[in-house]
Formats: sequence, structure tokens, C-alpha cells
Amino acid sequence: MMEKKEIIYNGESVKVFGTGSPDHVLVCFTDNITAFNKIKRAVIADKGKLNAAISTMIFNLLEKGGIKTHFIRQVSATEQLCRRVEDIPIEVIVRNVVAGSMAARLGLEEGLRPSSTIYDLCYKNDDLCDPVINDYHAIALGIVTREELDVIYGMTERINAILLPLFRSVGIDLVDFKIEFGRLPGGEIILADEINPDSARFWDAETGEKYDKDRFRRDMGKVGDAYRTIYGKLVSLCHPDGIPEGYPSAELLSDGWTRNIQDND
Ligand code: 5GP
Repeated sequence: MMEKKEIIYNGESVKVFGTGSPDHVLVCFTDNITAFNKIKRAVIADKGKLNAAISTMIFNLLEKGGIKTHFIRQVSATEQLCRRVEDIPIEVIVRNVVAGSMAARLGLEEGLRPSSTIYDLCYKNDDLCDPVINDYHAIALGIVTREELDVIYGMTERINAILLPLFRSVGIDLVDFKIEFGRLPGGEIILADEINPDSARFWDAETGEKYDKDRFRRDMGKVGDAYRTIYGKLVSLCHPDGIPEGYPSAELLSDGWTRNIQDND
């Protein structure tokens, strides 16, 4: 077992702990879910396990595709050992389909497909509710240099180019997602944070059914089942011969979409 030391980041759905090694942290996924700057909150049974496994599979796919990430390995059902990075306080949002805040802000209908991918930057600041900024703000505020931003955009484009067809191959439209980056001690920029239905929108490519946190934000019910669906799709993609040890069980999956669970759905 990896040693869990001081808490470095005490988030709701993710907590990050020191490990005793200056180069490594332990990222722990919880069952907590929040929305609207933590005003709305609940506990979704098994979400921590599902998100840990989903993030692990996605980061493995990205590493295979040549993207350098903070992920080293999953060490328990809800914990990942990761490289310690200096956080860059920017959220990069990739939008393949118009939804959520972009639809609201610009008065557009959700589901509209822009002719090219849209990238937003948000300044990570809870007190300000993560405001949208642009390249000029990010550079003028001293958050990143122009050169670093070019690296971030290049990596983001490659990440989308890897994930979009992979999800499409299992019938899922990757509508949008949020990613964060960090600097290694030498200054190299790598992908940090997590990617799962808390931080991305996944729609059924045929029916448009939502399999992400919007089910919680919009009181649609079956929140846990949506996360189970994305987990099942990734297992079919990454582990066609069976579910690896330590991952949520097949029993959890087979209950799937029809299960009536007590998770504040
Ligand atoms: P929106 O701009 O519609 O709020 O979000 C766009 C995408 O980025 C969605 O997939 C949403 O889940 C994700 N996202 C935006 N802000 C955050 C955030 O602060 N935390 C997480 N986990 N995801 C976010």
C-alpha cells in the first residue's frame, strides 16, 4: 500500500495526498458529487471506483497515443499514484458539440455541431467561479507563457483526436471535456487531473441519452447508472477479455441501466 501523508488538495470528488516522496502524489476518487459551485451536493454509490477506473483507462489510452500524463498506476479501487506537478491554474475546455454553459452564454441550441472544434480557457478560481478568459489574459496574468500555451493547445488537440474516434467506436459522442495541465520540476508540461463523466459530456451517438454529470445537475436521475455505462464501454474497449482485478465488478455492471439504486438519483 502506498503511504498516504499530508493532504495537498481537498476537493469534493477528488482528494490529493502526499506520499512521502517529493515526486509522487496519491489521487483519491470519492463518491461525492457537487454542482453549481458546490451548492448542490450528493453521494453516488460506487462513483469513486467507477471514476478511478474510467480515468485510468482513458489515461492509459492517451499514454499509448503518445500523450505524457501525470498518471503512473492505479494502486487501489479508488486511488492512483501520479507524478507530482506544479498546477497550472487553467481549465482547458474542448467542445466538439455545443452544450452547457456555451449554449446558455451564446443563446445556442444544445447539440449544434460547430464547423471546427472550440477551445475555451477558464481561470481556476473558486471565489470567481472559474471565469472564462482568453490567451491574452492567461499570458498577461503570468499564468503561462505564449510558448507554454502553444504546447497546451497542441496537446489538447491531440488528446481530442485520440478520444473522439475511440468513444465513437463504442457508440458514444464525446460532446465536451475539461482538462488541466501541470509542470514537472524541469518545466515540461504534462496532462494532469482526471477525465471521466464528472468532467466530460458523453451522449449516446444514436439516441442522445446523457451519460455524465448533467444527469445530476439537471435532476434527470440514474446518475450512477450513467457512470456505469461509460465504465462498461471503456472496459469493452480496453479489456475485451475481462474486467481487471480491483475494478468494479461485472455484477455492478450487469445491474446497469435498469438498477434502482439508493444513490440520490
Ligand atoms: P460547461 O462550460 O458547459 O460548464 O462545461 C464544459 C465541460 O467541461 C463539461 O463537460 C463540464 O463537465 C466540464 N467542466 C467545466 N468546468 C468544470 C469544473 O470546474 N470541474 C469539472 N470536473 N468539470 C468541468
